[in-house]
Amino acid sequence: MTKTNDNYKKLKGFYLFSEINKRVKKFRETNPNLPIYHLGIGNTTQPLSQVVIAAMHRAVENLASQETYTGYGDEQGNYVLREKIATFYEKYGVSLSTDEIFISDGAKSDLGNILSIFDQKNIIAMQDPVYPAYVDSAVIQGFTGRFRNGLYKKLVYLACTEENNFFPKVPEKHVDVIYLCSPNNPTGSVATRAQLKKFVDYARKNRAIIIFDSAYSAFIQDSSLPKSIYEVPGAKKCAIEISSFSKYAGFTGVRLGWTIVPNDLDLGRTQTGQIRSIWNRRQTTMFNGASNIAQAGGLAVLTPQGQKECLKAIKFYLKNARLIRNCFISLGFFVIGGENAPYVWVKTPKNMPSWEFFGKLLFEAQVVSTPGIGFGPLGEGYVRFSAFGDRKQTMQAIKNIKAKLQL
Ligand code: PLP
Repeated sequence: MTKTNDNYKKLKGFYLFSEINKRVKKFRETNPNLPIYHLGIGNTTQPLSQVVIAAMHRAVENLASQETYTGYGDEQGNYVLREKIATFYEKYGVSLSTDEIFISDGAKSDLGNILSIFDQKNIIAMQDPVYPAYVDSAVIQGFTGRFRNGLYKKLVYLACTEENNFFPKVPEKHVDVIYLCSPNNPTGSVATRAQLKKFVDYARKNRAIIIFDSAYSAFIQDSSLPKSIYEVPGAKKCAIEISSFSKYAGFTGVRLGWTIVPNDLDLGRTQTGQIRSIWNRRQTTMFNGASNIAQAGGLAVLTPQGQKECLKAIKFYLKNARLIRNCFISLGFFVIGGENAPYVWVKTPKNMPSWEFFGKLLFEAQVVSTPGIGFGPLGEGYVRFSAFGDRKQTMQAIKNIKAKLQL
């Protein structure tokens, strides 16, 4: 008899955004005439830049003629795009070779797939709260053990709290793989260079690997904050960086990202390029490259005009974030994030559980948020607001919160 992967049974009961949708749908059924304002999901809403649209149009046209048609490309991605990404990193003083860069169909798949190159005996550490896909991918691939009393037994949770300004201390015990996300989803906190250095030092001492998710790095406005972990000396010996065009260039639907696996990664007994070569093997076996149309769009994003236009959208979202932040600060809430990140993390009033505050926001102000508990046990008592909405929705949501939320 065929057996299914039992690890799926270890997943928590619900997928966060399906549960939110269920509750919003129920609210809509009983209140059909009330408009609802969405500050929940981190999905982009602004149109793509014109240079990107033009480049993707040209890429489609190229497919229409035999002379310019292209089929499968390199599994690692378009060579010129990889060169441009390497040039992009030079701005941060980071030098990469093209064979260390792998183009993907977005960060999410690689954030999960990367675990396939590691033995299941490895101990994984993650921030708490954090992007739920890391945890669930580790669960499905058998790294976490069972879910008991709100925690996975084998997973090491790195607490992100008010006390440490929502960036964790290095693990107290030995771990092998550490996921770090900066700017963080959901808290909007950004690691300083000194904080990242502590993790790089820990990883090198413990021969551990850091999986650094920089999907939101374009939102960092403070030039003293690192946009890539490779800005920290020694990080190429211990860190894999996974990033994306999704939030940087509005490619959430187009799908394009990149993963950097440095040749220098050093786990003690590994040779130069060995881990990069295992990842290359995995990709050439199980991935056939990102869409050539999406890659043409990515190339346009990295032109001076493309970058200028993407920055406009980033600034637009950051203004939304500032409006949301200021709204809650003016109402006396504890707020972080939203300055160098598109997420605003708000503490619930009177220690209210996050689902209860989610319901209060929905029923009293018709605003959809994301309950913090959905991002990990230490997300309890918080909600996340996303700045990715359009301006009208965001302004109306703020107006309703100020006028209708009973505090
Ligand atoms: N990493 C983080 C922290 C995210 O919040 C998201 C999506 O919201 C992703 C990665 C996924 O990005 P992509 O669209 O590139 O798959």
